[in-house]
Amino acid sequence: MFAATPNPTNLNRRMERTLAIIKPDAVAAGHAGKIIDRILAEGFAIRAMKLVQLTRAEAEGFYAVHAARPFFGELTTFMSSAPCIPLVLEREGAVATWREVIGATNPADAAEGTIRKQFATSMGENAVHGSDSPANGVKEGRYFFPEHVIVANGADVIDA
Ligand code: ADP
Ligand code: MG
Repeated sequence: MFAATPNPTNLNRRMERTLAIIKPDAVAAGHAGKIIDRILAEGFAIRAMKLVQLTRAEAEGFYAVHAARPFFGELTTFMSSAPCIPLVLEREGAVATWREVIGATNPADAAEGTIRKQFATSMGENAVHGSDSPANGVKEGRYFFPEHVIVANGADVIDA
């Protein structure tokens, strides 16, 4: 009889990716280094990272889901106003963990110890972005980085 062998496609099924962005306010204020330190301290692996100034069209594409919202113009103007740092982060439970670390959208509501509590200055200029689901984590990562420049560790990444 043959012994049961694990299905290699099911190994590391719990690895998850999220897209983080260190937004233009935090980069301009010199907080990028501290935020990257925090990312590593929270157990995330950085799989891709770059410094880039988005065009207005790129910011509009990234935030297309918010196109009908009253703050869309303000948001896309801000996000294309100066350089930002998108990063692909990976760990188990990456999406929920990163959202916990960054805190509430409005810094007035952000818990003590969160990045937005520490660095955000307003609802709009709130220091960092985090994806809202594993599927969006993968989709948003691909928006900024082609798959072949995302440094893989061999894990099978949850994308839905
Ligand atoms: P989050 O970034 O916490 O997921 P949302 O997805 O609701 O928040 O909004 C995306 C981004 O749009 C926010 O991070 C913030 O920069 C901006 N934003 C959201 N709501 C407002 C608002 N009422 N006024 C100005 N900017 C806003
Ligand atoms: Mg969101």
